[in-house]
Amino acid sequence: MSLLNSLKWDILIEETGFCIVSHNNEYSKRILTTDKNFEPHERQLGELLGYPACCAKHCSNIGESNIDVYAKEFAHNAHEQNIELLNIRHYEQGFSLISHIPCSYHCQTSINMAKESLSQLLKQPNRGKIHQWRTQVLGCLKLLH
Ligand SMILES: [Zn+2]
Repeated sequence: MSLLNSLKWDILIEETGFCIVSHNNEYSKRILTTDKNFEPHERQLGELLGYPACCAKHCSNIGESNIDVYAKEFAHNAHEQNIELLNIRHYEQGFSLISHIPCSYHCQTSINMAKESLSQLLKQPNRGKIHQWRTQVLGCLKLLH
């Protein structure tokens, strides 16, 4: 927590354990309020979280109650088809390059986000916790050479 404070990051944690880390407390509150809304809010929440608009819209069309099934099918098929940049199979363990469910295997915005994450990951020093995490991510995504 003190590291986050020293970096001027704000953290909001709700009773379910869902938490938001951002530079702006009001923005964090807006995300939590949106998430708690009983009306359909997949698209708005996705866009607030920085997901591609096409992917947020796609999740909205699928509906919140079907998202988990769609995510599992997407992850399985991405793995089977060797689309490792968009592989979200180990997303819940924190081992993926993107933090959203792409609208398709050809979503260029998602592919670009994954490539940028991979580029940043490969720039990290080859030691310590970041190295361990990088090794796990690349291993899970079959990108370890
Ligand atoms: Zn998309």
